[in-house]
Amino acid sequence: MTSRIADVLIPLALDTAYSYAVPDGLALEEGDVVQVPLATREVAGVVWGLREGQGGNFKKITGTLEGPNLSPKMRKFIDWVSWYTLAPKGSALAMSLKFPDPDRSEIVRIGVRLTANLPKRMTPARQKVIQAAQDGVVRLKSEIAHAAGVSASVVDGLIDEGVLETLSLLQEPVAGLPNPAFGDTTLSDGQRDAAGEIAAAMHEAHPPVILLEGVTGSGKTEVYFEAVAEAVRQGKQALILMPEIALTAQFLDRFAARFGVKPATWHSGVTGRKRERLYAAIASGEVKVVAGARSALFLPYANLSLIVVDEEHETAYKQDDGVHYHARDMAVVRGKIENAMVVLASATPSIESRVNVERGRYRYVKLPERFGGRSMPQIRAIDLRREQIPKGRWLSPTLVASVEETVGRGEQALLFLNRRGYAPLTLCRACAHRYECPNCSAWLVEHRFRRSLVCHHCGHVERTPQACVECGSIDSLVPCGPGVERIAEEVAELFPDKRSIVLSSDFPGGTERLRTELAAIAAGEVDIVIGTQLVAKGHNFPLMTLVGVLDADIGLTSGDPRAAERTFQMLQQVTGRAGRGEKPGRALVQTWQPEHPVIAALVSGDAERFYEEETRVREMAGLPPFGRLASLIISAEEREVAEAHARAMAMVTEPPPGVMVLGPAEAPLALIRGRYRYRLLVKTEREVDLQGYLRSWLARCPKVKGNTRVSIDVDPQSF
Ligand code: ADP
Ligand code: ZN
Ligand code: ZN
Repeated sequence: MTSRIADVLIPLALDTAYSYAVPDGLALEEGDVVQVPLATREVAGVVWGLREGQGGNFKKITGTLEGPNLSPKMRKFIDWVSWYTLAPKGSALAMSLKFPDPDRSEIVRIGVRLTANLPKRMTPARQKVIQAAQDGVVRLKSEIAHAAGVSASVVDGLIDEGVLETLSLLQEPVAGLPNPAFGDTTLSDGQRDAAGEIAAAMHEAHPPVILLEGVTGSGKTEVYFEAVAEAVRQGKQALILMPEIALTAQFLDRFAARFGVKPATWHSGVTGRKRERLYAAIASGEVKVVAGARSALFLPYANLSLIVVDEEHETAYKQDDGVHYHARDMAVVRGKIENAMVVLASATPSIESRVNVERGRYRYVKLPERFGGRSMPQIRAIDLRREQIPKGRWLSPTLVASVEETVGRGEQALLFLNRRGYAPLTLCRACAHRYECPNCSAWLVEHRFRRSLVCHHCGHVERTPQACVECGSIDSLVPCGPGVERIAEEVAELFPDKRSIVLSSDFPGGTERLRTELAAIAAGEVDIVIGTQLVAKGHNFPLMTLVGVLDADIGLTSGDPRAAERTFQMLQQVTGRAGRGEKPGRALVQTWQPEHPVIAALVSGDAERFYEEETRVREMAGLPPFGRLASLIISAEEREVAEAHARAMAMVTEPPPGVMVLGPAEAPLALIRGRYRYRLLVKTEREVDLQGYLRSWLARCPKVKGNTRVSIDVDPQSF
């Protein structure tokens, strides 16, 4: 007897869908979210396929779950991501699926909210409930009762009297409706041409991918807002992807000034019921515009017509654990599947995107000038071989004089150093012991404000010791080199009556306080900002007219082939913070090698030449985007085990023509979180089916045993 069989994909690290029998009378469609038994538990999964067959041996589906059905396009996208990244299909699904919290699915999902009615009788308990509900947020009855510290019956009484009203939690809107006619901006000629071209392209039968390049301050945001407006006018959805840190109050306010409401935002900070409801509203099409971090790309949009990838060159778009994907590249794929336009915006586009323009795969729109006739900052290198800096100081006399002059005029200066903490290395003067992380092959970084030594790779923290742990000498620890905290100390000594602030991802108080501080800087409440890359990008500080780069060479010495490109982008971004307001800006760049192509290009402003040269170097070396790369990291708790497994893997492959397997060798960070890491690097010509080759190789590899893990990264960002 044949019956219906469903192949259900479970959002766990599983590569295939499992088969289940469909109980008689259960109406099912592909994409439905169902509950199924798995080993001893019940789990949720998605129907990936339905067929007729002998269902006798299969377990039965338990039932369907509430929640949006996953569309064929969405399933195609998940299949594609898994195929491309080699991540298990279930892991790719897990990024797209937000299940209703099982603890809450049984309770009636009705919330309460305060009305204007007064209670007939006031008691202390009732007072507490009203207090707890004062903010007007819709909450579950039990939550209100808990917050007020009273029993649910008090809440019930207030509902009966109409003091609290009940409403379904799904009725409360999660985001306002953007109005494309709200704050029409007057665009400059150049901006209008660009916006017109982009908006028109949205109506093409197959909307293109457009690289929107514009120098810092050219108004790329204003331009892509017009494309967002066009999407909203058509009743469709738009997604704006940003590196997480760029989701600032400033951006949200600008959006609100243009569209009358803030966009819905999606990032790791959106949790609980808010996340659940936003998910549902995105799936139903009710939410029109989402601004989000890379994970927002995996949401089940009902009718997506535009994806903007802001600062498309950002490394933050690459996810480096679990499913190793690059959100920019996956956005292009998602755009194809959804027939949506994709806009990649940047002042410093990646070489990958530039080459895609050259190959005719992406269209190119450029904004050559800063908005409002503002000039680009004047950039000068300070040659550290010529200018003496006193020992234990990091600001050259020229830079100090410029800061003094700038803040003296009531303008702001930014001192940029991409190093968190006080000092990157701590050693003992008496015995030369260097403080190293017990779990990683990395130095511990002193954080003086926190009085601790911190590992930036695993988060290991220990108190800065009084006596050397090795030889016992007292007060013998010497900080070596500067971090932003140390620069702050120098600034405080040099400019005691100026207001300064240190901004890095260690900033106490989290994102909320950081947003407040960024707004304070924009409002001119700070004279000198000392910051890491956190402040280098995306922000608009109108009074900032001087940027000092303390050590332009930091990124250049690494062995990473993308080091030059990365450093160039970073320096362009940070110097681009200067002179975005009325007054012109300048940048001073401290370097030991002013003749280095990166520094020379930065100072001369000849980005084109740098990119051409760098692209040629990549092409000659057969590196991406002219060749393809994958990195396989084999890790284990014992060094020998990791190495042996890596060797065993290398033994079983015979690379076909056009494929090279390098290694195994110790990975650049040989030990992280107590795991030893070996690496095999696969380098292929561009036409080679990299995924196909990797799959056939992995199928032949010995099984992974014990705590050994193999992690595959297609298109690794640093290697
Ligand atoms: P980019 O993202 O290209 O660096 P922004 O979009 O942040 O540049 O714009 C830089 C500044 O210029 C912002 O303060 C923005 O408000 C302003 N600006 C850009 N275009 C316009 C316009 N058409 N009208 C008014 N202000 C604009
Ligand atoms: Zn010592
Ligand atoms: Zn560590």
